[in-house]
Amino acid sequence: MTTTATVRPDDASATALSTTELAAVRADFPLLERTVRGGKPLVYLDSAATSQKPQVVLDAEVDFYEQRNAAVHRGAHQLAEEATEAFEQARAAVAAFVGADEAEIVWQPGATAAINVVAYAFSNATLGRGGDAAERFRLAPGDEIVVTEAEHHANLVPWQELCARTGAVLRWIPVSDDGRLDLTNLDALVTERTRVLAFGHVSNVTGAVAPVATLVAAARRVGALTVLDACQSVPNMPVDLHELGVDFAAFSGHKMLGPTGVGALYGRRELLEAMPPTVTGGSMVEVVTMESTTYAPPPQRFEAGTQMVAQAVGMGCAAQYLDELGMEGVARHETELAAEMLKIADIPGVRVIGPLGADGAGEEISRLAVVSFVVDGVHAHDVGQVLDDKGIAVRVGHHCAQPLHRRFGVAATARASASVYTTVEEVVAFREALAGVRAFFGAE
Ligand code: PMP
Repeated sequence: MTTTATVRPDDASATALSTTELAAVRADFPLLERTVRGGKPLVYLDSAATSQKPQVVLDAEVDFYEQRNAAVHRGAHQLAEEATEAFEQARAAVAAFVGADEAEIVWQPGATAAINVVAYAFSNATLGRGGDAAERFRLAPGDEIVVTEAEHHANLVPWQELCARTGAVLRWIPVSDDGRLDLTNLDALVTERTRVLAFGHVSNVTGAVAPVATLVAAARRVGALTVLDACQSVPNMPVDLHELGVDFAAFSGHKMLGPTGVGALYGRRELLEAMPPTVTGGSMVEVVTMESTTYAPPPQRFEAGTQMVAQAVGMGCAAQYLDELGMEGVARHETELAAEMLKIADIPGVRVIGPLGADGAGEEISRLAVVSFVVDGVHAHDVGQVLDDKGIAVRVGHHCAQPLHRRFGVAATARASASVYTTVEEVVAFREALAGVRAFFGAE
């Protein structure tokens, strides 16, 4: 499989993407050429929901179907062999991209499914499945699972459900007024009773980067396992999971320039080896009798059924594309766009939900270009509609983070978010359009 990111900043660690580089990147994304709403250029500021896809990713999927389509890990024929090779090469590309070993990357339909695999492994272990090896995953009533008030529902509801099934208790780290995690009482929250600490790397509402090192250290002190929701970080900043030291992580292909229907669960090798399966059936077994079954080692143990091979190949290609672009440069581009987006806070009547500056996270990169906001006197849906009328696509609603919205006393926000192909000019167009929204509704 070959990918060809059109550009590679000469010194990726020192530069954001230059104008020429950005133009070349944009040319890789066919959808960005289309117009919307009666011929207006598309300003796509909804990449946190799903990113657009470069031609190489589309080509990789088409190539798979045209040349290699077959079920993987089965069959003695050449196509099965080539499909398996493409599938495993894609796994290797994704693993390398996030600083993991190949055997630590499990294909999943997305981040939501990946987090559920871990949560259900805990309840299966608690029911006695997995033998002695699964001891680490057994919960008792009174054990605690800690999340944060900023979580996407995908990293909250599975833990609520796990608590309901096992008698464990859910606790959460609150969010402070500036939209960052309030770690004041961290020691009282993460205690000997804590078994899991699950948190998002980057909030899909506020763009805030979590203090991973502090949280991992707190979990390690008490022997709790960490689960990182890396959906918003992996596409937009360098992520090295071994270096971060988390036990599990989840991310989705469709947010990182890859296809829908595919994502990855990362688990430290020894943990995946000890973890009981959740979805069972074909392809994840060793020996099956009418009475019982023994399971394949990871990652296959967690990949039951016919796999989403074309999508996995596409996700592997997306990882290579981003890698060739250089994630240091991508992160700088994000930081630059975040600063441009945050200027909306100067528009009268506009309130940004989340950190306005780069301070406070204790991380090298402390916020990305995901900016949620409310406009005085105008419902978020109406804000979205007025922007859409100008060809500007933003997200509106609670962005699957109702508790966080409740924390800020709002039912809905509008959200602008960027990706590698977003330009400053697009953000300026968004700001200018937003500046006219209150007048449009007579809300000034
Ligand atoms: N976590 C975060 C932070 C997200 O932004 C999303 C997607 N909105 C998810 C989890 C869930 O990802 P998916 O829908 O791809 O499973």
